[in-house]
Amino acid sequence: MQCPFCQHTDNRVLESRAAESGRSIRRRRECLRCSRRFTTYERIEQVPITVIKRSGDREVFDHSKLLLGIIRACEKTDVPQPAIESMVDDIEAELQQRPSREISSREIGERVLAHLQSLNEVAYVRFASVYRQFQGITDFVETLNQLKAEGRQADDQVPETGDRTPAFLS
Ligand SMILES: [Zn+2]
Repeated sequence: MQCPFCQHTDNRVLESRAAESGRSIRRRRECLRCSRRFTTYERIEQVPITVIKRSGDREVFDHSKLLLGIIRACEKTDVPQPAIESMVDDIEAELQQRPSREISSREIGERVLAHLQSLNEVAYVRFASVYRQFQGITDFVETLNQLKAEGRQADDQVPETGDRTPAFLS
């Protein structure tokens, strides 16, 4: 790290501490040549992720859009919002760790489903109905049967009908 005053590259760290709510580390440094002090910040690199949609359109991955979609899927379920928030954080961290900067919307959907399945059945089925774009009632029933086959009680928790009935049921 070059000294901003004399451009010398050797310095010593006087102090390191967490900054920006733990998202970065602030270091106070002293130049070994001119003895002047300066501050550096270290952050995790967040390279934007491009989502390739079904239509072939591309858009930048949007954390809050994904969060809202999942909150909607979890309405009237007992999934607490903090659990949803940490789930979205986990998914985004997974995406950041992939070697590719591009991901299909389908793969994101599958990752959400994998997380939701272990969290809440009703939310899982609702989300699946949107992201897997069920072709009709058959796909929906198949998913429920799959859940039942896994020893769960999804049939007791079918999303209630009414204004929240997913379009594929109508
Ligand atoms: Zn210096």
